[in-house]
Amino acid sequence: MSEKLFDDLNTFNHLAKDIISDCNKKGISKKVKPTDLLKKFGIELKNSGISDNHLKEILKELVLHTPKTSGKLFFNQLFGGVNSKAVLGDLLAVLLNNSMATYKIAGPMVELEREILRKVAHLISYPNTFGGTMPTGGSMSNFMALVIARDKKRPKTIQDGNTDRLVFYTSENSHYSIGKNASFCGIGRDNVRYIDTNEKGEMISEKLSDAIQSDIKNKLIPFFVNATLGTTVMGATDPINKISEICKNHNIWLHVDGAFAGSVIFSKKYKHLIKGIQHSDSFCFNPHKTLGTPLSTSVFIVKHKKDLYNSFNYKADYLYQTEDNDYNLGQISFECGRRNNALKFWTLWKSYGTDGISEMVDHNYKLASFARDYIRNNSNYTLHSFEESLSICFNYKNIDPKLLCTELYNNNKLMVGYGKHKKREFVRLVSINRENTKEDILNFFKVLEGFTENNL
Ligand SMILES: *Cc1c(COP(=O)(O)O)cnc(C)c1O
Repeated sequence: MSEKLFDDLNTFNHLAKDIISDCNKKGISKKVKPTDLLKKFGIELKNSGISDNHLKEILKELVLHTPKTSGKLFFNQLFGGVNSKAVLGDLLAVLLNNSMATYKIAGPMVELEREILRKVAHLISYPNTFGGTMPTGGSMSNFMALVIARDKKRPKTIQDGNTDRLVFYTSENSHYSIGKNASFCGIGRDNVRYIDTNEKGEMISEKLSDAIQSDIKNKLIPFFVNATLGTTVMGATDPINKISEICKNHNIWLHVDGAFAGSVIFSKKYKHLIKGIQHSDSFCFNPHKTLGTPLSTSVFIVKHKKDLYNSFNYKADYLYQTEDNDYNLGQISFECGRRNNALKFWTLWKSYGTDGISEMVDHNYKLASFARDYIRNNSNYTLHSFEESLSICFNYKNIDPKLLCTELYNNNKLMVGYGKHKKREFVRLVSINRENTKEDILNFFKVLEGFTENNL
């Protein structure tokens, strides 16, 4: 490795200090007009290079104007705030630069991933037959589940590609990756059935049952149901137990998409939210959402490893040259060169322990409850959320939520998004940053109220 790396790491340390202090001081970056970007930051690439000092200056301006997802005024996404131990692990992964494809390339890192998967399988009571991997995010985890379910129902698809007559089910409130993935694996978007939800945003299991029976009557082949543990807007959880019975009766694969709230598997207090999860066939969750590992960290787990192999293994003599398949993780992953996403999550888990992670999760739920109480006790607000959700959806003084969120952003006050459920549009505050305190939540409301008083 070049000695120059030390200089560049030194620069990194300086920039890291700038980012952290700016983030703590302001909590938000000043918005720049997209059309001004190229000129303002010297983004244009040229034939000749620049000096290290010049590069450092440009990088500094650039990073200070990049949205601060770890700031105390950032509530816009289902992630926020990075855990320092996880950052440490991830920086090491960058420096080591392995691929998780084979034991020969990744060595001990393979066992970190295997240990994470073992412990997650245990938390959701999957049998010893389990298998899993750490794909590039929740969308990819959901995609892998769909592919496996398809191949299980129609094994010939792997060779002949025919997905004729296959249909699958998900709730109208599920993540958009579910519908999007339908086209990637040849099912087609028209063959996705979006099942109605109740007031809380949970899938109505009777409607699922009706839809399946009607498709069977029409000679279609139901093969996959996606249940969501923490829907993207409302944070609702589908009735996994009831859905699993329906799936069992019709021999349908049940996947639980826990990308958002799935880390609740760690919590002792909120464990009831995952009731029935052991009856699912696959499950995923994103530590990069509630646990603060840097993007992307997703854990995907199947009840029977053979199903994962069946869909994802492929002969490649130039790659798989030592050890058996259990240690050559490329045989069960989508990617070939796959980033080491295990190290950052392992570093965090090792450092805090399962009990420490349990506390992090509970803290997020506690802050969500605090936010709901604030809203309930203030007549200027209308609450649309229910208990035990990390999404706090509300309206303020009949102000159009879209206008409110956009103006807060344009005026560099707050970053928060809006959502919709059952024709009601609202602001969606998410309790996802474990480093937040009650004061930070109160400050969110204070900033919002102060801004509307003077501007809207
Ligand atoms: C965020 C989310 C996803 C997608 O995860 P990515 O890592 O962003 O691809 C899938 N499902 C749900 C419920 C989510 O909230």
